[in-house]
Amino acid sequence: MRGIVWFRRDLRLADQPALAVACEECDEVIPLFVFDEPLLRSHEFGSACVNFMLGCLEELQASLGAIGLPLQWRRGSQVDEVFRAALEWEADVVYWNRDCEPRALVRDLAVQERLAQEGIAAKTFKDHVVFEAAEVHGATGEPMQRYSAYRARWWAKWHSVKPTAHAVPDASTTRRKAVRLSAVPLPAANELGYEHLVPWIAPGECCAREQLRWFVEGPIHRYTDGRNRPAIDGSAKLSPHFRFGTLSPKEAVQIALKSLSGKGPVSRTDVLTWIDELIWREFFHQVLAAFPHVVDGPFRQTVVPPSRDPGPERDVLFQAWCGGRTGYPIVDAGMRQLNQTGWMHNRVRMIVASFLIKDLRIDWQSGEQYFMCHLLDADVAANNGNWQWCASTGTDSMPGYRIFNPALQSKKFDPDGVYIRRYVPELAHVSAKRIHEPHLMTADEQVLAGCRIGTDYPVPVVDHQLARQEYLNLGKPEAAR
Ligand SMILES: Cc1cc2nc3c(=O)[nH]c(=O)nc-3n(C[C@H](O)[C@H](O)[C@H](O)COP(=O)(O)OP(=O)(O)OC[C@H]3O[C@@H](n4cnc5c(N)ncnc54)[C@H](O)[C@@H]3O)c2cc1C
Repeated sequence: MRGIVWFRRDLRLADQPALAVACEECDEVIPLFVFDEPLLRSHEFGSACVNFMLGCLEELQASLGAIGLPLQWRRGSQVDEVFRAALEWEADVVYWNRDCEPRALVRDLAVQERLAQEGIAAKTFKDHVVFEAAEVHGATGEPMQRYSAYRARWWAKWHSVKPTAHAVPDASTTRRKAVRLSAVPLPAANELGYEHLVPWIAPGECCAREQLRWFVEGPIHRYTDGRNRPAIDGSAKLSPHFRFGTLSPKEAVQIALKSLSGKGPVSRTDVLTWIDELIWREFFHQVLAAFPHVVDGPFRQTVVPPSRDPGPERDVLFQAWCGGRTGYPIVDAGMRQLNQTGWMHNRVRMIVASFLIKDLRIDWQSGEQYFMCHLLDADVAANNGNWQWCASTGTDSMPGYRIFNPALQSKKFDPDGVYIRRYVPELAHVSAKRIHEPHLMTADEQVLAGCRIGTDYPVPVVDHQLARQEYLNLGKPEAAR
């Protein structure tokens, strides 16, 4: 039997169900990746994300080559290309791991139907999450809308199922399964229509495992505090790896739990808090699977204040936010980190999102789109779920009346302004007292800091206290909840 393994967002060998089962069942195995031409042309994702993906694919091609299974790639409509490949290579089965994004579901169904017409089987597997929507649900099978209840059921499921990982296929058997097809070098980013960048987080399965090893040997045991401090390496920086499947979430949970052996109760809290974040990830994936309408609008028709009308004023404010020139240092540092590296610290993501939606009163979808196009870890479920959380329109969101005060947030989480100074160099010599609100510097302080407000660094584009009051006056955010 001849099988194709269609790689998508599962770019690894370890605990890769589609690959593992294909290697068990088939006499001949062909790994395939298809560059989705319409998606590439849409530029919904940016260069950071595309370069990260290419880095992962290069490593995958090398590691598959090492076990005798050269990765094939094509470019075009995924539905057409997978179908054509299956016909051309006379495949009996096409194997792939499932993806709950609404667009992916439509695509996969189309592939499945076309294959079925030619008598070619399709076998699909759970992979991107530990538990799919159908496995963790309410008492009567309903999808869950509250994270805390979801989390409790997720853990109950984990303890009852005790998930196990698939082994890496054994090279001595896979070599006998190779079809005579050689690996063609992958396209470069510019051939796909993107700028070439060196990804800020190193791509590929080896780097993912190395990063996880570093994290569980140290920072995970200080995570509860460390995760909120953008100036330090307090979180795992694994999100692009989970996004492209260079790391299995199931294995990550197992490895994190193993790191507890010999550690005390404080560390236990830290490790469980980290796993909670992975459960948030799964929570948003099941929200997307159960309520696909969230990609087109709010989950909940909460009464939230109207966004600012389109027009030049709105555009100027949006551009200031995008470019990190709002006059609010923590917001500007976050946006510049995103623009320079393709990544942003989670606490800062929440601050910039709250600022866009509640201080600038710009629709959350504009922020969501900007993030999709600039993040290395751009992921529909996590991005949409978090933007809706910040906008108070999601399943389990922050209350509408809660509006982050950027200066207080940065005093609390970046007290000495180390993170701010890293990304906003014009504030490098501003004193710790003024770094969070540099517009309060006197003329003498500005001279001393070498930073003229209004010239070297912007005056705040809005007054936070006034903007907050206006937001609260404009709506009764809690009325419909
Ligand atoms: C407005 C906004 C947009 C976001 N967009 C994305 C996105 O497109 N892709 C993405 O992966 N994450 C997104 N997040 C979630 C979060 O910011 C990142 O996952 C996190 O910063 C990644 O860093 P880390 O790997 O060091 O995380 P850690 O703190 O080490 O957490 C471990 C893993 O848990 C998951 N995770 C952590 N926090 C969250 C969360 N709030 N929601 C869902 N999963 C989480 C990630 O996979 C992460 O790698 C967004 C958050 C906000 C507030």
